[in-house]
Amino acid sequence: MGYKTMSAKFAIVGSGPAGMYAADALLKSLPDCHVDVFEKYPAPYGLIRYGVAPDHYKTRNTSRQFARTFNEDAVGYYGNVEIGKDISLDELKEHYDAVVLAMGAYNDRKLGIEGEDLDGVYGACAFVGWYNGHPDYRDLNPRLDQDGVAVIGIGNVALDVCRVLAKTRVEHEASDICAHALDAIEASPLTNLHMFGRRGAVEAGFTPKELGEIKDLERCAAIVDAAQLPDDVTGDFEGRERGIKEKNLNLLKDLAAQDKPEKPVKMNLSFYASPKKILGTDRVEGIRLEKTQVVDGRALATGETFDIPCGAVVTAIGYQTSPPEGVPLDGGTVANENGRVEPGVYVVGWAKRGPSGTIPTNGPDSRDVVELIIQDVAASGMAGGAAIDALLAERSVRRVTFPEWEKISEQEFARAKAPQPRERFTRVDEMLAVLS
Ligand SMILES: Cc1cc2nc3c(=O)[nH]c(=O)nc-3n(C[C@H](O)[C@H](O)[C@H](O)COP(=O)(O)OP(=O)(O)OC[C@H]3O[C@@H](n4cnc5c(N)ncnc54)[C@H](O)[C@@H]3O)c2cc1C
Repeated sequence: MGYKTMSAKFAIVGSGPAGMYAADALLKSLPDCHVDVFEKYPAPYGLIRYGVAPDHYKTRNTSRQFARTFNEDAVGYYGNVEIGKDISLDELKEHYDAVVLAMGAYNDRKLGIEGEDLDGVYGACAFVGWYNGHPDYRDLNPRLDQDGVAVIGIGNVALDVCRVLAKTRVEHEASDICAHALDAIEASPLTNLHMFGRRGAVEAGFTPKELGEIKDLERCAAIVDAAQLPDDVTGDFEGRERGIKEKNLNLLKDLAAQDKPEKPVKMNLSFYASPKKILGTDRVEGIRLEKTQVVDGRALATGETFDIPCGAVVTAIGYQTSPPEGVPLDGGTVANENGRVEPGVYVVGWAKRGPSGTIPTNGPDSRDVVELIIQDVAASGMAGGAAIDALLAERSVRRVTFPEWEKISEQEFARAKAPQPRERFTRVDEMLAVLS
């Protein structure tokens, strides 16, 4: 299988887990092929760098396997090159045998309620990007100057946001949270963090590991109302999924039963509440929620509302992809059939499946799509990177190669103050300045 594809040239758009698993699978299946990975920012690895919470440092280290792929001779890194802006998708199609779209889905879905445009409302991508030093969100300066942050959604990302805000400087010591964010969190008068889920504890999207992490925080107590918890996990869950739900429920019951320790910050986990309106005139002053009832797994409105004062709202309710112009969409993902978009164009990862699953979940998915590519594509003597290099030079676009990225990364380690492992550069200019 794949002899006709042997020396084919492939372009991958996006250097997150899905793109890198695809690159790895192509190289393993076709040792004579060449793969160029295009990434909008100088830094590779997508949400491993800009999504995963800074205190989950070990998870970030999963990027090491992808660094090995980049160090293969048959792989080119085109960092700081955005497809759709610096190079068009048509140009990639013209110069490569196949293009794999792996742009992820890092655009926040909107709540669609009144007050959503007030100063102080942030999507989780932007908020998480801010504390992770994403160049687009470096200057977000979120409104943490008043008490109360309401996070809409009860999944791992919502827990990440609350936990990062709740931790002290000492608790963040071994994390690589950016200095600007840590300073702002430390200076904030926050004592109330709220998480609201439309449905119940059993339907919540977090994992027991993340839930367990909020139990023993230094200055923050997790608050759960026992009256909101069911006795048992009911519903159509089987095997591993049921096990996770049961563990979650037990952990929540433990939190609800514990003597509330006298800690200055409270993290309130509230179920059966759906946002109706964000309150305030110029900026967020509170949020109005409507109580819900869950029937057959669906949250139904009850008409009963309540208000919570807060200075900021973070929505963690899902994400959608934003592909280069001309790529067909199907809701929040790229329209595709098993990963095929059109002849010669494929899609993998969150851009294909939507925002679900962990980093490793992207592996089997990318490998399946690579199998299709090998069946479909024949090598046809394309120019590949040589043509792209000429276009970039013509357009004065500064490509960052992988050895150059490694140089930037080394500087991030070198400038960190122990025990913090890394102090990131948060602006593209700063990264490029390392190379000048
Ligand atoms: C806040 C958050 C926290 C998470 N935490 C964890 C965790 O702790 N553990 C875990 O296992 N999973 C976690 N996940 C899930 C995990 O990050 C995803 O499963 C995974 O990153 C999806 O991979 P992807 O390659 O499809 O997308 P991404 O990781 O988003 O990668 C897409 C890449 O494409 C680039 N790109 C986009 N458009 C273009 C373009 N036009 N040209 C060039 N490049 C482009 C982007 O810059 C990005 O680098 C988290 C997700 C989020 C949102």
